[in-house]
Amino acid sequence: MMFRTPLTVVPIGILSLSLAASLGSAPASAEPSTLYKPKDIQNARENIERYPWAQRIVGGWKHIVQFSMTRDREALRAFIPEFTPTTRYNQTCPACVGKQSRMGEGRFSWSSDAPDQLTCTQCNTIFPSEEYPETGRLELPHRGQTITYYQTPEERALPATATAEERGRHALRLNTAGPPMMTSFSGLIRRARASSAVAQVLPLAKLYTLTGEIAYAERALWIMERFVEVYPDYLWRSYRNYFADLPPAEVSANMGAHGGGGGRFPVGVIRHAYVADPVALDNGFFGAGRLQDHANDYGWLLDMTVAYDLIRDARYPDGRPLLDEEMKLRIVQEFLVPACEDWEHWRAVHNKGMGYFALSAAVGTLLEQPERVRHALNGFNRMLAERYHADGFYTDTPHYGLFNFSQLRPLPDILLGYSDPPDYQPQEGPRLENLDPYRMGRYQRVVEAPLRMLAPGNRLPVIADTAYDSPLRADYAELLAARFGGRYAALFEALRGARLSEAGTEYSLWYRDPDLQAPEGAAELPLRSEWFPGYHVGVLRAGRAEDTALYLTGHQFQWTIRTGHAHPDILALAYYAFGQELASDRGYFGGAMAPDRPLTGQYWTKSTASHNIVLVDDKCQPTEAPAGCHLELFGVAPVAEVLQGAGGADTRPTAAAFPVPRTVEVIQAAGFNAYPQCEEYRRTSSLIRAPDGQTYVVDFFRVKGGHPSLPHRGFRLRQHHSPA
Ligand SMILES: [Zn+2]
Ligand SMILES: [Zn+2]
Repeated sequence: MMFRTPLTVVPIGILSLSLAASLGSAPASAEPSTLYKPKDIQNARENIERYPWAQRIVGGWKHIVQFSMTRDREALRAFIPEFTPTTRYNQTCPACVGKQSRMGEGRFSWSSDAPDQLTCTQCNTIFPSEEYPETGRLELPHRGQTITYYQTPEERALPATATAEERGRHALRLNTAGPPMMTSFSGLIRRARASSAVAQVLPLAKLYTLTGEIAYAERALWIMERFVEVYPDYLWRSYRNYFADLPPAEVSANMGAHGGGGGRFPVGVIRHAYVADPVALDNGFFGAGRLQDHANDYGWLLDMTVAYDLIRDARYPDGRPLLDEEMKLRIVQEFLVPACEDWEHWRAVHNKGMGYFALSAAVGTLLEQPERVRHALNGFNRMLAERYHADGFYTDTPHYGLFNFSQLRPLPDILLGYSDPPDYQPQEGPRLENLDPYRMGRYQRVVEAPLRMLAPGNRLPVIADTAYDSPLRADYAELLAARFGGRYAALFEALRGARLSEAGTEYSLWYRDPDLQAPEGAAELPLRSEWFPGYHVGVLRAGRAEDTALYLTGHQFQWTIRTGHAHPDILALAYYAFGQELASDRGYFGGAMAPDRPLTGQYWTKSTASHNIVLVDDKCQPTEAPAGCHLELFGVAPVAEVLQGAGGADTRPTAAAFPVPRTVEVIQAAGFNAYPQCEEYRRTSSLIRAPDGQTYVVDFFRVKGGHPSLPHRGFRLRQHHSPA
């Protein structure tokens, strides 16, 4: 690395966390305190001793770490690059673009066996290549780095005095019509090398924890040591290839001071191969990273923190510690804390933001920093309050609910059992003692909500942006079984089709009590006919939850709470019978727009018109103003009918004369702002179970308003329709 002359930019709005506990001395307790606590480690040991499923998980880690176990300290050190990796977003293969691949959609494979090359997965061209040299140079002089990139022959032919804009006209692009975008094979190789090295660390640390073999811990430490050294030189950059030529801590502070966006920097700090003198780091934290892209650094940073927690007190067989105090302080002060502080400047509460609150939770419990733990806990509570309805449903869609949950999940696991240090008195509020996030506020409802909504076949109902036929993932049932036991243990067995002793993922390895037994009897999912008052969705099941469900996706749109990924489908209906989705919502297809794809994959499926609904004035429901529906009637009524046997002198009841239940279930809801031009937009849907057990639907849609000469359309189901 060359010399560096950091620019002086005064960071504004430094996070006011007290780091006193970490900066003066190493924390007193060396018991693991982040994701895996002593009791979890004990669980894991016993599960491994008793169950083949647990042994297979350990076997998987051993396979992963073969790479580091067959290398020495120097080899691992040399493997990890010393400066900034570049983004994998919008890279192009110059050899086959326009033929076998699209502009901005190049795909390259990389292997640790040939770590200095990439192969195009479409045309098999190997990079670096003399035919496609990286002649472009993006200089980052303050930090002494040069990012090299490929230039097209036309760009290469320009005189040295050509401006960024002139060069950009001939460059590879984000997509065919998009802005110019560099493709850097050397940067991608650095990214692949660094990513594969960090992926070794947590499996190594887990193996040390569970086997006591110091060779695993040693290698985890060697990789960590190298990151202490190089991470300050992994500069902030965005997925559109803006680079910040400044010490990373100054960049994150600047972005944080400007609301998490791209900050305001002096000219010359932010660098882009084809943009002259930008002053902001693109769109800020959301698109940024220092190793991964697009705000995805939380995963490996959390892994590193947890790994350090597991090996910090590792010892050789003769009792000597693996890490001396100086190395512990370096890892904490020069790597983990600055990495965590970087992202504490970003206070966004959404699925990616949650990963960083989990990182704060891990660093906070590791270093016994109650303020940092509170920062994490506040993020968690804000997420529950701002992004989940009171009934536990995620505001977006069932699919995104599960996705968000997977990001949310580590945080309560880290904070479970947390207590403030004995001598700590908070300036505000009570001390935290033996925290149990699983029984705090609405979290249990959040965990249970997806189960209550399930469609026949234990699939997610296809509401809004949810792909058809998405199963409830097994790890979800594992969490419920491990954290709540009881009927959820039985549910786990039902969903997995295996006994607890026969199956488990890593979640169960650490957190499931090895003695957990499912109670006798069949597991029952909490599937009832109900209205979810927060989400504004109702489901009727007619007592046949195994194969029947009718959903009124009344939901709400930017009304009580923010929504994304919703469809303008207020009062739409979906109906499952015989285990099949008969009246369907098309759900989610994805697929971004491109010059040769003028519509997104969602263009039709998202529209009101694709739903089982009345379309007023031939237009979709507007999405500008808050909208939703009010529940007006919800009822489940068993109607006993006496079927009279054939008359005769004998009046003794026959089998046919006993009361036979006919169940009527009904939901009625009225749109609120669904179509502002309508004085009435109301649906009454009723699911009836006939005496023979079959179900049928009676559905009324009342509409008043709209333009008299424009058509209103109803789709797929019979509607009673009374225009004004
Ligand atoms: Zn190619
Ligand atoms: Zn839909």
